Amino acid sequence: MKHQNNTESNGQRTSPLEMTPEAFRALGYGLIDQIADFLGTLPDRPVTTGETPSEIRTLIGERRLPREGEDAERILAQTAKLLFDHSLFNGHPKFLGYITSSAAPIGALADLLAAAVNPNVGAWNLAPVASEIERQTISWIAEMIGYSNECGGILVSGGNMANFVGFLAARHAKAGWDTRKNGMRHEDGQQLRVYASKETHTWIHKATDLFGLGTDAIRWIGTDTSQRMDVSALRRQVQQDAQNGDRPFMVIGTAGSVSTGAIDPLHEIAEVCKRHDLWFHVDGAYGAVAAVLPDAPADIRGMQLADSIALDPHKWLYAPLEAGCTLVRNPESLRDPFVYRPAYYKFDDIGGEAPINFADYGPQNSRGFRALKVWLGLRQVGRAGYEKMISDDIVLARRLYELAEMHPELQAFTHSLSITTLRYVPQHFDMGSPAADDDLNKLNTELLTRLQEGGEAFVSNAVIDGKYVLRACVVNFRTTMADIEALPEIIARIGRQVDAEWRK
Ligand SMILES: *Cc1c(COP(=O)(O)O)cnc(C)c1O
Repeated sequence: MKHQNNTESNGQRTSPLEMTPEAFRALGYGLIDQIADFLGTLPDRPVTTGETPSEIRTLIGERRLPREGEDAERILAQTAKLLFDHSLFNGHPKFLGYITSSAAPIGALADLLAAAVNPNVGAWNLAPVASEIERQTISWIAEMIGYSNECGGILVSGGNMANFVGFLAARHAKAGWDTRKNGMRHEDGQQLRVYASKETHTWIHKATDLFGLGTDAIRWIGTDTSQRMDVSALRRQVQQDAQNGDRPFMVIGTAGSVSTGAIDPLHEIAEVCKRHDLWFHVDGAYGAVAAVLPDAPADIRGMQLADSIALDPHKWLYAPLEAGCTLVRNPESLRDPFVYRPAYYKFDDIGGEAPINFADYGPQNSRGFRALKVWLGLRQVGRAGYEKMISDDIVLARRLYELAEMHPELQAFTHSLSITTLRYVPQHFDMGSPAADDDLNKLNTELLTRLQEGGEAFVSNAVIDGKYVLRACVVNFRTTMADIEALPEIIARIGRQVDAEWRK
């Protein structure tokens, strides 16, 4: 007989989601076996099957929400197979697309462990160990890139969020009025201005839009021939805006641009910020961790002067999605824009100590334990392990550039950090013709579509001075020299096919 609240007469409750430890163990072992086999066969699988949305929907089965439950073992095994047979694998050694890394296997185990304990890392007392691990993760990341050891920070979902958090810290610190209370209304109608190079990632559009400044608040600063911010243009624009009664408040420098991996002249940008009392934010979502290398490009060291830095553990620290991180020179500058103290939160004193409550340092309230996968990766291989993987990635990207330079049908464009750009140019192509770039843009666009769908290898694209180029970004500890050496001929072969078809 059942009580009305669904408990058995012996006081035991039967909940359909609950599992006995024995059942969990059996399911877990089965799933881990499947995952281990999958990881072992990854290099032999296609990068992607290139199926269409409707094909994928058919596979999943277009059906209504099930009324009754199913057997857990069966649905887990089925779903694992579905994912292994039909996904795009950014963990594949020949995946060099966008800036999405291979995920460290220990990160997958960490996510399982984090979900099993399920701490809520919004408040210290709900997540004692997890909060301290997040705090240590942040300080290790700062140490890794040579940032102030007094700094504060928070883990967020990714680079966009990490940049948003830096942006909100900047707005609060430098707007000159109480933006938390008055929003974007200012009695003098002063226009806030944020400065960013044309190579800045689209997060800046979203940030100015979402947080009420409007995209017109962005002053786009030109770049030099290496796609780096032109700092004299920045200086002129800031001065002119200030003279016109606008309120410049923030400059964004990028450490590893999304198109070509370019690093802005960060020291010089820092100087401009200092002179004009502006917030200096560095978007290092991709490139910041390259600062771990003893021979890192000199410009990247200018990051040390930033008021805030965004970087993505789910990029070059190889953490599984999602993990972004904001660092701030002054920890209070992250608390000031976010903290509220409602009466129902009693979080500020634990045994006479002031604990860190991460909900106070960012937009999220309940927060998952994303620090664990980053922390365990850092512990598994240490600073030395990351130095090796990051520098190997750079060596591989440089090698691809050299191979493209030597290949008679490829034109190498740029190499910076672990990004190389190149394009296919048919032999005997007339570069002097007025339509040359247009023709090559069309040809390389089609080439890339076929390459991506084909599943042999995966790169993405960039547009440099109006030229459509293929872009390989190596943030992949599985990529080997053989993978890189195979790439030019794969690209040239598809290029030849497209060219031959289009000539008919
Ligand atoms: C990837 C990237 C972003 C966005 O990060 P997400 O993790 O995709 O949100 C922002 N800026 C740069 C320079 C990036 O490379």
